[in-house]
Amino acid sequence: MDPPPKSWSIHTRAEIIAKYEVMERVGSGAYADVYRGRRLSDGLIVALKEIHDYHSAFREIHALQLLQGSPNVVVLHEYFYRDDEDAVLVLEFLRTDLATVISDAAKANLPLPPAHLKRWMLQILSGLHACHRHMVLHRDLKPSNLLISEHGLLKIADFGQARILTEAGFDASIDNEEYSRVLDDTHNKDMNTNIYDGNATCTISDIDREEEEEEEEGKKLGCFTSCVGTRWFRAPELLYGSRDYGLEVDLWSLGCIFAELLTLQPLFPGTADIDQLSRIISVLGNLDESAWVGCSKLPDYGIISFSKVENPAGLEACLANRSPDEVALVKRLVCYDPAKRATAMELLNDKYFREEPLPVPVSELRVPLTRKGQDEDSRSPREWDDFDEDSDFDEFGPLNFTRTGTGFSIQFP
Ligand code: ADP
Repeated sequence: MDPPPKSWSIHTRAEIIAKYEVMERVGSGAYADVYRGRRLSDGLIVALKEIHDYHSAFREIHALQLLQGSPNVVVLHEYFYRDDEDAVLVLEFLRTDLATVISDAAKANLPLPPAHLKRWMLQILSGLHACHRHMVLHRDLKPSNLLISEHGLLKIADFGQARILTEAGFDASIDNEEYSRVLDDTHNKDMNTNIYDGNATCTISDIDREEEEEEEEGKKLGCFTSCVGTRWFRAPELLYGSRDYGLEVDLWSLGCIFAELLTLQPLFPGTADIDQLSRIISVLGNLDESAWVGCSKLPDYGIISFSKVENPAGLEACLANRSPDEVALVKRLVCYDPAKRATAMELLNDKYFREEPLPVPVSELRVPLTRKGQDEDSRSPREWDDFDEDSDFDEFGPLNFTRTGTGFSIQFP
């Protein structure tokens, strides 16, 4: 008889079914299946996240351990790990997400009231501030990873691509033996009573073999891979191949999320990486040394060249009908130079949040009853063929490109 499909293995795990009733599957992502579960001892409803990739599992466990106690980060109750099985994380169950809030409002053609917008934004900022205070780089911020409880509490989730920054600028890799030891040390502990001290370091990515090799090489240089995050929210330095980026890549994503909350439309819905860049450039103008001193040193800067955009649309055009304060807020995040992006802490103190209309209390937020389906922006990293001519340029639409000696050049119509 064939073994049960791997995604159903959770149902046969003795240590899990001894403590939890495994109910329906509520979601699946690039590396994981998530089930609703019920803790047998007290009936608590939880999310059981079965992660099919051990690097991703390790990153998520490590980041969540560091962040326990942060009100706007998902709670990890406990986890199960065995060498021969997928890791299973027991997380607090959250009913819906910000992508659903946005799509419900868009469907009803009703913008989110500013007082509600501010409360959503403040919750995201508080969660991100907690991450960055602990030097956790999330690397995949997007509305569907911002989960929401039935009471309106927003929590940052899905740390499967997270990195912990160290003084050297990257999370030093540990080998598999060390990896197992770290997990064994903290294995199957109740997170409410065992707060991890955060001294262990995280292991490298295995998004795919190529990336692993890249990171292997990169870690020697103290840097990361550029193939992270969902394309629509991916910072320009990543699109240009940077591997020594920092917390600022999350701040770019945050700006895209804020813009989407304001307009109910994705800010830069690129169909391919090159299209993603061209959309950004058509709004912000060309990326050159006047916009960001040092950008010409980005690995792919000399390979991808865009013709001069004489009249970039500007963020104002993307945020038509929004107040100058709202546009200013997005501009503090969606800017080329990573050093110029405002930090989560700076934004928490922005006067926008202290001016009328004041943010509503969390309890007054409108929380959708359900979650919308798998969102269109969720793509497996394996689907990202960075700068692959066939996949990228087929979808390229109205722009013309020509090969040059060193790469290619994009012509705006
Ligand atoms: P991946 O790491 O593979 O991207 P995610 O963490 O994004 O996986 O989880 C996949 C889906 O499972 C999410 O989009 C969401 O619908 C659901 N999910 C994840 N965590 C929870 C949770 N704590 N409570 C309820 N649903 C969850």
